[in-house]
Amino acid sequence: MRGLMQDWPMRVHRFIDHAALYHRGARIVSRTVEGGIHHTNYAEIRTRALKLTGALSRRGVKAGDRIATLAWNTHRHVEAWYGIAGAGAIYHTLNPRLFPNQIAWITNHGGAKMLMFDTCFMPILEQVAPLLKHVETYVALCDAAHLPKVKLPGKLIAYEDLIAGKEGRWAEMHENDACGLCYTSGTTGDPKGVLYSHRSNTLHALLAGQTPGLGMGASDVHLPVVPMFHANGWGIPFIAPMAGASLIMPGPKLDGASLYELMESERVTATAGVPTVWLGLLQYLEANKLEFHYLKRVVIGGAAVPRAMIEAFEDRGIAVTHAWGMTEMSPSGSMSAIKPPLDELPRPRQIDALCKQGYPLFGVEMKITDDKGRERARDGNSVGRLKVKGPAVARGYYRSVGGDAFDREGWFDTGDVASLDAEGFMRITDRSKDVIKSGGEWISTIEIENLAVGHPDVAEAAAIGVPHPKWGERPLLIVVAKPGTKPTQDALLVHLQGKIAKWWLPDAVVLVDEIPHTAAGKILKTQLRRQFADFRLDR
Ligand code: AMP
Repeated sequence: MRGLMQDWPMRVHRFIDHAALYHRGARIVSRTVEGGIHHTNYAEIRTRALKLTGALSRRGVKAGDRIATLAWNTHRHVEAWYGIAGAGAIYHTLNPRLFPNQIAWITNHGGAKMLMFDTCFMPILEQVAPLLKHVETYVALCDAAHLPKVKLPGKLIAYEDLIAGKEGRWAEMHENDACGLCYTSGTTGDPKGVLYSHRSNTLHALLAGQTPGLGMGASDVHLPVVPMFHANGWGIPFIAPMAGASLIMPGPKLDGASLYELMESERVTATAGVPTVWLGLLQYLEANKLEFHYLKRVVIGGAAVPRAMIEAFEDRGIAVTHAWGMTEMSPSGSMSAIKPPLDELPRPRQIDALCKQGYPLFGVEMKITDDKGRERARDGNSVGRLKVKGPAVARGYYRSVGGDAFDREGWFDTGDVASLDAEGFMRITDRSKDVIKSGGEWISTIEIENLAVGHPDVAEAAAIGVPHPKWGERPLLIVVAKPGTKPTQDALLVHLQGKIAKWWLPDAVVLVDEIPHTAAGKILKTQLRRQFADFRLDR
């Protein structure tokens, strides 16, 4: 017998409908691309999104059409997501930090006929536009006065002119219809598209909005440092209006000084982003002897969070939630926070737990297996391939590129290597591509890197495997020193001694000026491996 409850199709416009009606007091503040600070609220965002929906429908945009966005976090980008999805179309985020030919490849693969862009990306667009196969209309996210005076191979129109007409209506659509498209940056092979549905985005907001998680309330003032073009913006453009939280959008300025200034002037209580950003912010704070006066919570994810970073925030009374996820998971998977019986433990042991990637959110199933697919023990020691399932996890890639990560029982192989312990905590030891294989055993690069950045003179560290005649591979530690310091190999090895197994100690340490990063701010191991391919440890 079926239940007698209502069928309430889960469609993303419901988030903004809800916030417009019930959270009129929430502030939406953006640092604009043109310069200056813009203030609005959810009701205005909804009205303008409906105008966009109307304009798109009048221009013949149909259900399932993709519309690309090349934009920073601002109110206009939020409006664009709701306006596009509300018209039954699909927002397709583009990452401006990729190379122009990669941006062109991803746009062409997505098939968008319209592209919306921040005017500051004009130099990129001038290189990309001639390579685009489907785009007919370019929408500059500005008013007519700021419209760039350039020639693009298609119509160019100002966003404010586009939405000047009448409000439209949210299109009728099924909750399983697609509404968003985001490509994983793919350090190897072609990028892969993840196609979110209204239902998956709605369920993701509910599951990622849990506490711990991105959990927000109407009294929160949230600043998403994570750009909307990275991994579905971590769902924050849906979670904030769901909770009625104020949203402070940092626009193009993500350096320590600009973030600090905005966080203080707008009284930001919670924020979320990748470790590299916090590195810059914490260094700025230290160098200028500044403190936060309003910040209470920071969600850090996208790459492993070093212990020193957790301590730097926690020592200032700011709670750290260490998050793990993937573009393919909408993106939230697990969050680490102190829970019983860990609350009884001394502080350093609690920080140990926060260094792990956390326990799954409700709505995410998790297991680890060996290479043959046999499940491994949840004992904290056994390490295996991390596989996940859930209503906000992809079941394939857009246009079937790179589809071998999905098995017949519906498990998605994350490509991460991890352990699970009896308390439910998951710990990533590596990407399966990055793990160092020494004498047939695995060495965790993440563990070495996290310990290395605990040294007072180390700004950033990366461990990679380099060829070794006897052991196959041995660890090489690559370090960027803090300004004005020059840590020696011996000092760094002494720092690591006793903290990891002896055979995990790097065979050599090299100092470099800079470590390369991916467009999402993660260490680009493929490039480091190429750079150090000829490094010989036996010399
Ligand atoms: P992306 O889809 O670009 O966000 O990349 C997802 C990948 O980033 C994951 O498969 C992990 O390898 C890595 N990642 C994300 N969060 C963490 C974390 N907290 N610790 C370690 N690795 C992480």
